[in-house]
Amino acid sequence: MIAVLSGGVGAARLLSGLVDVVEPESVVAVVNTGDDLRWNTLYVAPDLDTVTYTLAGLNATTGWGLEGESWRTLETLDRFGAPTWFGIGDMDLATHLYRSEQLAAGRTLSEVTAAIARSLGVRANIVPMSDQPVRTMLTLDGGDEVDFQEYFVHHRHSVAISSVRFAGIEDATASVGALGALEEAESIILAPSNPIVSLGPILALEEISSLLRRRRDHVVAISPIIAGAALKGPADRMLTELGHESTAFGVAELLAHVASAMVIDNADAALAPRIAALGYRVTVRDTVMRDRSTSAALAAATLDLVQTLPIDRA
Ligand code: GDP
Ligand code: CA
Repeated sequence: MIAVLSGGVGAARLLSGLVDVVEPESVVAVVNTGDDLRWNTLYVAPDLDTVTYTLAGLNATTGWGLEGESWRTLETLDRFGAPTWFGIGDMDLATHLYRSEQLAAGRTLSEVTAAIARSLGVRANIVPMSDQPVRTMLTLDGGDEVDFQEYFVHHRHSVAISSVRFAGIEDATASVGALGALEEAESIILAPSNPIVSLGPILALEEISSLLRRRRDHVVAISPIIAGAALKGPADRMLTELGHESTAFGVAELLAHVASAMVIDNADAALAPRIAALGYRVTVRDTVMRDRSTSAALAAATLDLVQTLPIDRA
């Protein structure tokens, strides 16, 4: 079994290649739910949906939502004067209707996530990090606190932040599926996802971080930062704003307590000695996932690195 701590797009790209190099049924994606929100009363889970739609081969090229969407619901809401900055397409809407109804009927988020994935033909396992609500909240420069979607979508992540917290984290427990997978997996991959707001909420669950600390020898991270920049989204600026180095080394520092191996891009070869000095085994290679075959090659190289035991333990 291979477990993958996952945010949205970066993780989905990796997973789409990983299922080509190992049995899809042996993969468990443990997905961030800190971005989840209520949209017109419906429960929306952006990272779960990105991972699910991508593994089902239904994802849009934008990285979120479904290919071939229509927007008639949103256009009609707009006529009512309702806010439409959060885009939900007509087909996507069905996912949120179904999930919300099932949650209201008493099923867990884990159960509904599995049911949706199965219905869409996904063979890999997709589990939320927790069945309880955890909400990523960001304090903007200036002092206002906003939830993740307001920062990410409404403000188009163009505003500086001064801090991040995960509301509800003290009362949340890791899902049974997440803990089981992380305990049993021969390898655990930290996907190239935003280390602060995608991996951050998952690692903020104490049961998960203590389990990973104990199993650190089996944990490998892939840097989402290449040559000091994120390929997409605000990870680079967030690192800087929160006082970290906006490089693969900065990511390595953040994850050093839970990971013992790291894959960094060729562009960052010069950082390898500094990352190794933190206690990592390092592989340097192309990490840009352009298509399914480059994703599969990165997934294979990542497994090779983590499945080679450190010399002093071999
Ligand atoms: P979100 O939840 O959709 O914002 O996505 P994630 O947190 O999973 O992913 C955002 C991060 O993925 C960004 O920091 C990107 O740099 C990184 N990312 C996206 N595609 C790739 C890729 O092909 N290779 C690498 N190394 N990182 C990527
Ligand atoms: Ca996300």
